[in-house]
Amino acid sequence: MLASATMRRRSFLLTAAAGAGSAAAAQNKPIRPAAVENATPGESPAIVLSQVGFLPDAKKRVIYRMASGEVPPESFTLRDIGAPVKPFSLTRPLVQAPGDVPNCLMGDFSGLTREGFYQITAGDERCAPFFIRADAWRRTLPKAIGYHHAQRCGVGVPNVHPACHLDDARRRDTGEHVDVTGGWHDAGDLRKWMSATMMAGFGILRIARHLGERWDLAGSGLGVLLDEMRWGNRYFLKMQNRDGRVWADTAGGVNGDNSDNHWTDNRIGTADDRYINTAKPAQVQAMFVALQAMVAQAFAQADPSYAKSCLAAGVRCWEATEHPKSTRDLSWRLLAAIELHRATHDARHAAEAAKLGDALAALQVSDYIGSQKKVRGFWGTGGAKPVPYWDAVYSALPPIAMLELAAALPVQANARRWRDSVSLYIDEYAAPMAARSAYGVVPLGLFPGSPTPETYRPLEGELTYRYFMPTRQRSWWLGITSHLESHAVLLAAAAHAFNKPAYRDLAFRQLEWVVGNNPFGACLMTGEGWRNSYPYSRFVGPIAGGIVNGIAGNAQDVPILQMEYGNDWRTGEYWTPHVAFYEWALAQLEAA
Ligand SMILES: [Zn+2]
Repeated sequence: MLASATMRRRSFLLTAAAGAGSAAAAQNKPIRPAAVENATPGESPAIVLSQVGFLPDAKKRVIYRMASGEVPPESFTLRDIGAPVKPFSLTRPLVQAPGDVPNCLMGDFSGLTREGFYQITAGDERCAPFFIRADAWRRTLPKAIGYHHAQRCGVGVPNVHPACHLDDARRRDTGEHVDVTGGWHDAGDLRKWMSATMMAGFGILRIARHLGERWDLAGSGLGVLLDEMRWGNRYFLKMQNRDGRVWADTAGGVNGDNSDNHWTDNRIGTADDRYINTAKPAQVQAMFVALQAMVAQAFAQADPSYAKSCLAAGVRCWEATEHPKSTRDLSWRLLAAIELHRATHDARHAAEAAKLGDALAALQVSDYIGSQKKVRGFWGTGGAKPVPYWDAVYSALPPIAMLELAAALPVQANARRWRDSVSLYIDEYAAPMAARSAYGVVPLGLFPGSPTPETYRPLEGELTYRYFMPTRQRSWWLGITSHLESHAVLLAAAAHAFNKPAYRDLAFRQLEWVVGNNPFGACLMTGEGWRNSYPYSRFVGPIAGGIVNGIAGNAQDVPILQMEYGNDWRTGEYWTPHVAFYEWALAQLEAA
């Protein structure tokens, strides 16, 4: 007994010592991001829908996600939980949802237009409470605009961070210091990519253009938008080189790494100064021109001399750059020509826009290809070996640009052809593909066969599709929030242009995914809805109005979202384009 007891005591001490050693070692290890590939949806919550709510006249859908082996409920009940004088409820059927999502029931309560605060139950399950009200979406806009304000760089932002990066930055190529202070941090870090942060400008100016003084129901007025735009544009204008062309980023990371992603001592010439990437990519040039031409229009009344100088900067960049060839860059160049025409009414820019529109239209795949007859009208990448175009951020940009062109130059000979190209994209590609999902979301894109060793869903013939980015194609992949929101922009604009309410319904489906109508029941905007994933925002923490990269897919194209505290940037990081496309889409929807 005694020997045995001694032995156990010794074992305990040894174990304790080993445990203490492990703890010490663990303290010195960096926290690694948790594996996200297995962060697939759990069985809860069962009932998901738009947590922002619904407009009274909108199509209203609820999804019931069945657990394995569950006897499906036949109906759902909706109750007004806002303490109405007379209790209000209704019951509707739940039916099997068609498409790719298994074990999914769908309920419709579109006929309910009565404003109120509701909750749905089915069996023992209940959903997040939600509103039906006329300002259900509109009331989220000030929060989105507040996100840009919180991301200001080169100045202290009360309650967010003290003055930062007053020493930005030195050229990577020559080491020369150039004042590029100002602008906005992009994303969950402190870098200032031109492409990503200029998107903030497009979001802000779309709200100003479509909603004007009344954009904020609290009455803050247009000045708030113009002030924020002018702040960001200080930096964009400083990034224009003497040759008229525009640099790619500040602090993007010298070797594609995170080396510049840090706070600095704000003193010029010390070791922690960050670098300017003096590359001049085609996309950045075209975005810069489009943005300056939009700034010129937005400030024409408020500050004519500022408007004039911004337009001049845009024209200088336009004249210093060639027409690009890739589908994405050509789309931006077309938008630039359209906005230059709107700002100047110069027939030369109209002619250039028409020419670019014809070039972009030529990249659309109008025939059935790949031995299938299910879809056509999507865009190809162009080049010697074209494949179907998709982009994690700008996927709906080609038809958006074509629709803008048709609206800007309605009497041009080819205007009907440009409009038809948009109809073809929506009617014969985007809408039929979205019908494959119970949630009504447009899959990310089409593929020729299986280009990488992972799941590609068969469409027909040689074409396959995925809802989410391939994970084995390149070193990075991320959630598809902007892909969906850019389609919301397109569908909202097309609903107006073609007077087709069904496009508007489909636009809302894309946005509803972002605010809770998804297999995780997660709202991807901080400060709205419920079940937010903790954002990857390593320097300032959560920012109200920030929208994360969102739901990605694993190798099996099964949705994944890091809902734990895993510091996963691929699904959890704020990216400015997500906020910008959200603003742009809502501006179009609310203007109609
Ligand atoms: Zn900063």
